[in-house]
Amino acid sequence: MKKLLISLTIILSIIAHFSFANDDYQPILNQAYQKYKSDNKGKVASYIPSLAKYSPQLYGIVLATADGKIYTVGNTQAKFPLESLSKIFALSLSLKQDGPNEILDKIGADATGLPFNSVTAVEQSTNHIGNALVNAGAMATVSLIKADNGNNKWDLIMNNLNDYADSKLEINQDVYQSEMATNQHNQAIAKLLQSYGHFYGDTNEAVDLYTRECSVDVSTVELAKMGAVLANSGKSPFNNKQLLDSKLVPYLLAEMTTAGMYDTSGTWLYLVGLPAKSGVSGGIVAIAPGKFAVAVYSPPLDNSGNSVRGQETIRYIANQTNSNIFITKDKP
Ligand code: GLN
Repeated sequence: MKKLLISLTIILSIIAHFSFANDDYQPILNQAYQKYKSDNKGKVASYIPSLAKYSPQLYGIVLATADGKIYTVGNTQAKFPLESLSKIFALSLSLKQDGPNEILDKIGADATGLPFNSVTAVEQSTNHIGNALVNAGAMATVSLIKADNGNNKWDLIMNNLNDYADSKLEINQDVYQSEMATNQHNQAIAKLLQSYGHFYGDTNEAVDLYTRECSVDVSTVELAKMGAVLANSGKSPFNNKQLLDSKLVPYLLAEMTTAGMYDTSGTWLYLVGLPAKSGVSGGIVAIAPGKFAVAVYSPPLDNSGNSVRGQETIRYIANQTNSNIFITKDKP
């Protein structure tokens, strides 16, 4: 009986091994790359002057699985600033410190239906913030992060980004200086929030720290590894650190689902069905919970500030891998 059980276990683990080996995402990534590599729709962001220097040709795709396998194609080592992608990791810190109720109360989780830097949204949404992934909510989130002083707060933010990326990331000084010199609009949003009593610290400090986190450079490989933490219930499959309690991950993914792609998050959800986040530098990361994260880098953006090829590529991959979270039938 014991022998039978042992042989059964061996057979089952062989089957499990081969069925996992079937999850070879490389051909799908290659197909997506071939399909979209000549697509030149969209425009590289220029409202932050130093972002305009990036080549529209850059294109990289990386899929990182929840158990730590990586598939790549294209310019996957080219560095680019996180920009709005940084917002999800600041929210992760805040969720860890304050819990979901305080985040819902102080930051919110509702779509604004307006551009990511909308002042109208601050005036008109019920809590004046909307959610953690528009500029208003992201700066308020930074103001909410608890630390003894600004330097310690920055260390918390940066160490958290490093842990997620399983790497030693650096600020892109050129982008940081360029955005600091031109971020009056964000300063105004922070002051407006403060006037409504929805800012939780010094506005100058929070805008500075927010701009710094937006200027941290990553490669597409690093971005996919960051996403894999969220695909793996908050634990990095690369350094085994539990960076967000698994019970808190759904709150973060919910914010990404509501607002990760700004005012076109609804269309994205309708077409792709995966929580995702974009940044104006041209990166997008999407999460297939329990399976993988897929990151794409391609600087040309649509009118909402989302990478055109990034969206097309992830839509193709989500479709080919049957990963839409709303599909319950015929899942592999
Ligand atoms: N740092 C940028 C800003 O505040 C981030 C915006 C974005 O990526 N959508 O405008």
